[in-house]
Amino acid sequence: MSQARFERVRRALGEFGLDALLLSTGADLPWLTGYTAMPLERLTMLVLPTDGDPTLVVPRLEAPRVVSQPDLFELRPWEETEDPVAVVADLVGARRSLAISDRAWAGPLLELQASLPDAKWQRASIVTGPLRAVKDADEIIALRNASAAADRVATALVQGEIDLIGRTEAEVSREISDRLLEEGHQRVNFAIVGSGPNAASPHHDASSRVIGRGESVVCDFGGVLDGYCSDITRTVFTGEPPSEFRDLYTVLERAQAEAVGAACAGIPCEDVDAIARRIITDAGYGPNFVHRTGHGIGLEEHEDPYIVAGNCDRLRVGNAFSIEPGIYVEGKWGARIEDIVIVNEYGPESLNNVDHILYWVA
Ligand code: ZN
Ligand code: ZN
Ligand code: ZN
Repeated sequence: MSQARFERVRRALGEFGLDALLLSTGADLPWLTGYTAMPLERLTMLVLPTDGDPTLVVPRLEAPRVVSQPDLFELRPWEETEDPVAVVADLVGARRSLAISDRAWAGPLLELQASLPDAKWQRASIVTGPLRAVKDADEIIALRNASAAADRVATALVQGEIDLIGRTEAEVSREISDRLLEEGHQRVNFAIVGSGPNAASPHHDASSRVIGRGESVVCDFGGVLDGYCSDITRTVFTGEPPSEFRDLYTVLERAQAEAVGAACAGIPCEDVDAIARRIITDAGYGPNFVHRTGHGIGLEEHEDPYIVAGNCDRLRVGNAFSIEPGIYVEGKWGARIEDIVIVNEYGPESLNNVDHILYWVA
């Protein structure tokens, strides 16, 4: 989209000793060029040599969808009977240290490996991941808008505007999806509704189970608004929650809030995870927190930076990610609270602002 992004990518390619970057399906290509390759069997590939001009190889019939930006890249449509792998191999030429989209299809990669047998391959994300993880001002506006739309749906949920008791999880999931679209999303990526014992399964598929009274209901939903993703989780209780659940929820609330508060520029990602995990573990729920604390978000629902033990990368101003600890008690119930957070110069800012108190709904 901008010469600046191309320049940053080129510089990073040089730092990694790479000769060329090959971008196909996935979010790297639209991030760099504004063009999204359809996930078709026909090959689309941007060939960006570290020392030369980039060329976008596209199927002839897709070429009209490409917004021409001759100052950024050349367009090379391939005809239906041409071999696009040969076209790409030709553009790569004698370059041998290559990086390819993590989300590229294996098919063309295997063919490229056969025609460039002495090439060395790496994932494109070693270059694009850290660059994409630092959002610019326009991207932050887009994330803000997506989160605000998700917040309006979450508000309807916690305030009891979305009926739960007596309806199936699937019905509630559909209503949440419809509301995300009404609030401006172009696409819904998921609308998890886990009730009762299903709330103990973090990625539960909304089922035909009818939601009853005295249950925790975990709702985790998100989609795409103007290219950027939303992702929020709120847990509500149908009727009056027993003290055991209230205690669990209080621990979770504290873990989530403390992790958000710690998410300042300079702190290692794994330390943010450790803060949430320590609070949950000290309360005796350590084994019940079965996933990482969060994931980056942007053009993709999950991207760098990952808030997980073992990731010692430090948070940077412009990072955007979820903070979503959960406590799951198998066969019984579960709870999760998730907000999207960005790192500003002055500290963390939550883009989701729906209250965290435990709502009792009917
Ligand atoms: Zn998830
Ligand atoms: Zn989520
Ligand atoms: Zn998430």
